[in-house]
Amino acid sequence: MDLHQRVLVVPFPAQGHVMPLIKLAYNLAYNGINVTFANSEFAEAKILAAMSDADKKQCPIRLVTYSDGMESQPDDQRYGQGLMDSITKVMPGNIEKLIKQINCSDNREPITCVIADLTVYGTLEVASRMGLKQVAVWPAGPASLALSLHIPQLIKIGVIDGNGSPTKNEVIRLSDEVPVLNSSELLWINPTTQKAFFNFSLTIKQAAEKVSVVLCNTFDELDSSSCAMIPNILPIGPLPLVKKLNPSIGTFSSQDSTCLKWLDKQPSNSVIYIAFGSTAVFSQKQFNELALGLELSGHSFLWVVRSNIVNGSSLEYPDGFLERTANRGKIVEWAPQEKVLAHTSISCFTSHCGWNSTMEGLSYGVPFLCWPYFWDQFHNKSYICDMWKVGLSLKADEDGIISRHEIKTKIDGLLNDDGIRTSALKLMEDAKKSVNEGGSSYENFKSLIKYLKA
Ligand code: UDP
Repeated sequence: MDLHQRVLVVPFPAQGHVMPLIKLAYNLAYNGINVTFANSEFAEAKILAAMSDADKKQCPIRLVTYSDGMESQPDDQRYGQGLMDSITKVMPGNIEKLIKQINCSDNREPITCVIADLTVYGTLEVASRMGLKQVAVWPAGPASLALSLHIPQLIKIGVIDGNGSPTKNEVIRLSDEVPVLNSSELLWINPTTQKAFFNFSLTIKQAAEKVSVVLCNTFDELDSSSCAMIPNILPIGPLPLVKKLNPSIGTFSSQDSTCLKWLDKQPSNSVIYIAFGSTAVFSQKQFNELALGLELSGHSFLWVVRSNIVNGSSLEYPDGFLERTANRGKIVEWAPQEKVLAHTSISCFTSHCGWNSTMEGLSYGVPFLCWPYFWDQFHNKSYICDMWKVGLSLKADEDGIISRHEIKTKIDGLLNDDGIRTSALKLMEDAKKSVNEGGSSYENFKSLIKYLKA
């Protein structure tokens, strides 16, 4: 074990990024790497508040904080343009200060390597300037990174213009083996933020091309075609690789474990799990349709309803819904998602198809009902439904609403589809193989450890 080196791990300061990077950090620590984990002050306060005393005591990594300049912002206004600006303007300087401070004032080993989320590319530039080793992490699927890497070709062949807008209403195929993408579902297409998202994708492309390794929470067999389009990718998923890792580490909210006891009382394969990650929001009308669709389905359900899930107002359930479904519905603000997905009573996962949720559902062989919301989630939905064939997609009506009838029909279709269940179980086995001794991700992770210790 080489204790003369220290790795600094830096995520983008949001839930869906901190969680996988903290899992990676624990895995590194369990494999003899000295790890310091840099959280924004905001993220650190959330994580520590949600962490049990036992987990704090056994934490194998050192937690440190930096300011992202957004501390005075209310929680619900953190994730806009302000945070994007802070990532480029405030964060790199503060990370540089942090590294200097650790290296000068600590009696510990100096930071010799920075492992940073590609979305905080400024941190990788700091590491490069300071002469430290750099490893990037792509916190989404390989296909979305492959797409960003192909932006110049897409412009050249005239599929998109220089601002990322589709020039024709046609589908995009990056290779014969990957699902086609509707041009309206490109990562950056968004009525209000397209310019910023497109520039962000271009910067990510440049950052990915500068580093020698890009870690990704996937496994080679899952999407070898997209992986083949990223020369420096190292697939090490699905995380967590280490079995003893508590999957709730890194969560920003306390997980309500009462739902596990409730699940214990339900028959096997009988409960629909519904969760949309940490940021997706709904109109009150859409929220009502979802509630009524769950009621209409007649199935038991476990539904994660964040207090901020309804856009711009406090949420209200349809009249009498809670009373009518009390004997077969459980609602929590935040669930221990991985433990829920691993539970035998779960029959399917209604998901926004965020990458972490996608990998977690796949890892436990759970069929998906896909309800993508933004960024890479449409792309992930195409993989789930068209390539891996482990789910069905919900379709909105002409008013943009997914109706209660659509929800009921698709739930029935999904639960009666033996082909989908068989594919989901097969993928689960493939995922297990990849992280078990001798598997592709296992070997890749070993080579990462070797590289970090070298
Ligand atoms: N998650 C959780 N409890 C919940 C809902 C989500 O612990 O009730 C976790 C989930 O396991 C995943 C993360 O939050 O690791 C969400 O990440 P994802 O990429 O799916 O979505 P995002 O929040 O980034 O949109």
